[in-house]
Amino acid sequence: MNQRIQIAGPCSAESAEQVLSAAKGLAPTGIDYFRAGIWKPRTRPGAFEGVGNTGLPWLQSVQKTYGLKVCTEVANARHVQAALKAGIDMLWIGARTTANPFQVQEIADALTGVNVPIAVKNPTQPDLALWSGAIERLANAGIQDLMAVHRGFTVHGQKKYRNVPLWQIPIDFRNEHPEIPMLNDPSHITGKRSMIPDVAQMAVDLGFDGFMIEVHPDPDVAWTDAPQQVTPVRYAEMMAELKFRSSVKKEGHGELSALRSEIDMVDESLVDLLVRRMGISKEIGLFKKEHGMTILQNARWQHILKQNVGQGSEQGLDSGFVEEVYKAIHQASIAAQRMVIRDELGKSCDPQEGRRQD
Ligand code: PEP
Ligand code: MN
Repeated sequence: MNQRIQIAGPCSAESAEQVLSAAKGLAPTGIDYFRAGIWKPRTRPGAFEGVGNTGLPWLQSVQKTYGLKVCTEVANARHVQAALKAGIDMLWIGARTTANPFQVQEIADALTGVNVPIAVKNPTQPDLALWSGAIERLANAGIQDLMAVHRGFTVHGQKKYRNVPLWQIPIDFRNEHPEIPMLNDPSHITGKRSMIPDVAQMAVDLGFDGFMIEVHPDPDVAWTDAPQQVTPVRYAEMMAELKFRSSVKKEGHGELSALRSEIDMVDESLVDLLVRRMGISKEIGLFKKEHGMTILQNARWQHILKQNVGQGSEQGLDSGFVEEVYKAIHQASIAAQRMVIRDELGKSCDPQEGRRQD
């Protein structure tokens, strides 16, 4: 798979046979690390929480029998010590643990002076600073070989994905930490094996550095995350079907430059239109102020939204996309009108006003 980092293996280690069977299927595919969770942080009590230390010798058998490097999830200092003692080659920090700075610090402290690669999954909530913070705690502890794993984010009430990808967050993370390889975990993003290739292709198109994917010898009977696991054979097929395109700008690529100039021109017009719209919006704010009207005229807003979402979908634009764009414009418009009403017109307006800020 084009020299990308590949981590694959079952969600959970269930038995020596299951672990070795997964490893046997994966060994010929050229993965870099075989994964299996032995300490499983579960959202609800009563679910299978992993086999614990019992699974460590199974991972050692994978190392010996198939010459594969192995990794597992750690969530506290005790896990780190047991895994290091057993010679586990790489450790990863799960999404629920990254979300807790005390926990991450405990792990970082347990790793001080040890040189073992660590992968850090994004926290469950869409909070870039928490993810970066975890990476920084480990870097401060002297860990040099760090990787980030994008596994999607919990968004209440959303149905398409198990964890919504919110691609802008890993992109922002990469801009903050360009030296850290960014892996994609399409298994936990989708929660559903049929959707994995599409998400994995998106990660390739965005220039990600590799994958962590859940692979089980008999996915339907897996003790955890059954719907999202694939067989080793399917895994190899999926990896082979990914299409890699060069991210390097090719010289003499006239067609691409022409298209980019066209995009630049459209972007310029878009910004001009936004400036014009905001100017009108401020005038409306003045009118509302003089006539004692509220800023939000809900019927009017509903009309604008319906009108533009409709016009967009007629021409092939995704209605969710147009809705999001309009909500952002409307939010900025309200913020500007509030300033007009409070006589703060000269000051810069903050469209994020009213949203959470740390
Ligand atoms: C896992 O990798 O099996 C896991 C529990 O993932 P996450 O921490 O991303 O939920
Ligand atoms: Mn899992």
